[in-house]
Amino acid sequence: MPLVPPKAEPLPQVPGALPPLEHLSPHDLVTYFRCPHEMELHRSQHLSWRTGAPLHPRTPAGTAPLPHSPLLPPPVGDPRPVHGRLDVGLQDELLYQDPDEPGLPFLFPSERSHVHAFLREHPPTLEDRDWGLSGRPDYVVRRPSGICFPVEYKETHLFEDYPRHHGRFFDFLQVLAECRLVEATWKVPPPSGLVYYGDSAGGGEREGWVEVPYVGAPRAWLLSALKVIRADQVRAPVPQEGNCDHCEPNRDGLCRYARTRFEDLHPSHRGEVPRARRFY
Ligand code: SF4
Repeated sequence: MPLVPPKAEPLPQVPGALPPLEHLSPHDLVTYFRCPHEMELHRSQHLSWRTGAPLHPRTPAGTAPLPHSPLLPPPVGDPRPVHGRLDVGLQDELLYQDPDEPGLPFLFPSERSHVHAFLREHPPTLEDRDWGLSGRPDYVVRRPSGICFPVEYKETHLFEDYPRHHGRFFDFLQVLAECRLVEATWKVPPPSGLVYYGDSAGGGEREGWVEVPYVGAPRAWLLSALKVIRADQVRAPVPQEGNCDHCEPNRDGLCRYARTRFEDLHPSHRGEVPRARRFY
């Protein structure tokens, strides 16, 4: 069933221990939005690597493919692209930066960075126990007004021909989930999050960013999307070329539904994936 953007719901309040929710990440949201089976294969693959257990996706054999994702796009409107350097003010402060992303550009001088102080007190992965979500934004910035918001940095696409070559809704989904992580960590909902398309090779001439709204309908959409994902016990495939061409489980030879085979698209990679890792 398509997801209809719902009315805002109050947060489920579960103090103390983790609630019994299937744990999800911004990456899970993105892959489910593209193809629920991709998310299922990806999670099963990582569980298998961690535990040594056989790969065991929940998708029943013979599941009929879907023509499109069960999730409708988030109600974020059409965020306005802004060309140029990221709008970082002289009084803005950096609260967080993913310590395992060494390629992130240097946006703040050390006197306006509180990253080391944060990481001394907290694990590097932000966790939202109420919504069962965890992940790492690239940055979290605080404005002088006290507003905090995440910034997701994309270096793979320059800001040319926007939005033709950009992830768009995939990027928006990721930053929405990161807004929730910021809300859970700093206890104030960000009005929006930023997707920042960088240009480390071009001297910044082809940079730009978009502001994705979070409060209101997008936030409610996110909560409902997490419920839809957890309630989906099938996680059916959506075999479309645009999905399968870049699908990691397809690269690893794990999907029997693939519209296009990764090895056919990238013959130079043929034979890289050990057969033993395959289950079809
Ligand atoms: S190869 Fe295609 S159908 Fe299979 S999991 Fe990936 S995106 Fe889905």
